[in-house]
Amino acid sequence: MADTNSSGLIDKITALCKRRGFVFPSSELYGGLANVWDFGPVGILLKNNIRDLWWKHFVSDRDDMVGIDASAILRPEVWAASGHVSGFNDAMVDCKECRNRLRADHLIEDVIPEKKVEGLSYPQLDKIISENKIKCPKCGKSNWTKVRKFSQLVEVKIGVLEEGKDLAYLRGEIAQGIFLNFKNVVNSTRVKIPFGIAQVGKAYRNEVTMGQFIHRTFEFDLMEFEYFIKSENWEEIYEMWRDEMWKWALSLGIKEENLRWREHGEFERSFYSNKTMDIEYKYPFGWKEMFGIAYRSDYDLSNHTEKSGKDLSYNDPITGTSFIPHVVEPTFGLSRLTGITLFNAYTEVGDRVLLKLDPKLAPYKVAVFPLLANKPDLVVKAKDIYHKLKTNFVCVWDDRGNIGKRYFAQDEIGTPWCVTVDFQTLEDDTVTVRDRDTSEQERVSVEKLPEYFTSKLEK
Ligand SMILES: [Zn+2]
Repeated sequence: MADTNSSGLIDKITALCKRRGFVFPSSELYGGLANVWDFGPVGILLKNNIRDLWWKHFVSDRDDMVGIDASAILRPEVWAASGHVSGFNDAMVDCKECRNRLRADHLIEDVIPEKKVEGLSYPQLDKIISENKIKCPKCGKSNWTKVRKFSQLVEVKIGVLEEGKDLAYLRGEIAQGIFLNFKNVVNSTRVKIPFGIAQVGKAYRNEVTMGQFIHRTFEFDLMEFEYFIKSENWEEIYEMWRDEMWKWALSLGIKEENLRWREHGEFERSFYSNKTMDIEYKYPFGWKEMFGIAYRSDYDLSNHTEKSGKDLSYNDPITGTSFIPHVVEPTFGLSRLTGITLFNAYTEVGDRVLLKLDPKLAPYKVAVFPLLANKPDLVVKAKDIYHKLKTNFVCVWDDRGNIGKRYFAQDEIGTPWCVTVDFQTLEDDTVTVRDRDTSEQERVSVEKLPEYFTSKLEK
């Protein structure tokens, strides 16, 4: 496998992402924007494949799940009621020399990994930083402000008139849209507890982290659901979803040795959760959160009932009783997972780079080439095969350069199979199919190609 030097590997993957169109730095023409990224033509195919597999597995294939798509801007009262205005804060320090802003806990842990900083007060954090003379990772000086509270919620002003401007917030989590629509969903569908409401969408957080590519970003996509239950059996349901999350991660081809469960300590847990566990992925820069599962109890629906004055209880049609449901919340970072699949798939063989993506995830399933771009007979035949395959599989056409270069380019974006139309094709209507991972080639009849790729994809 690749470089043992972690920053080397991150640089290589970042460069690959830009070179091949997975991920570009945002606002690059104007110098870029820290911790904000754009997905390119190949990256969006990968990300959408992950999203679609998730939706199929956790929503469409189930009878106890429905979906919504709520807005990203919500009234400020929502975030006050949810506790995010007061509770969604990080302890930050600024370097007085170079204005580098960092989370105090990250700063300390990076220098003194064995130090337990969870749950410490701000003065205690100040003391550790000054006693250990912790240096700024950017400028090397040790001249810090005191640790200060920094809200993760992103403010936006809405309204057209200056005096009518209203403060609102971009959502810091997508869950609130689900809680706000709980009654709408119950009243407009046939759901019965236990059931889930799922959503995929963007969230925004003022978080400060550096050098971790698309792991932690200002704007990011989440896939998540709230699973509404009676309080009595929350542990059983929590375990059921934990199991499902693990299995789904493996179904994407993520190597099991790079995954682990970690439970959040009491002081680390979000303010709304009674129990939180993460599936962590072993990046080159360490174990980091990939998915999370929280037991939010009836915290949100109760709070919104109280603060809005609208009753959000659920009427059980069987027992006739009325109660505020509890929730278990599995969360999957979509942007983050897209990056993880790249780290997971990145492979170097000699000077060759290949992305061993699971074929289900691969942006293009099949690439089609004419052996020679200047032989019209080959080009016409290859185009015909390409257009037919395209109705069933996401395909890409390439006739640039020589065949070796085309294989090389497809390996780098993870295309599992390349079809080459050569002179033999014109005689016996067969093509060569070349496998990304083994480089082996086999002759397959043109007529059999759809069946051939379908059976490979079902494996
Ligand atoms: Zn500095």
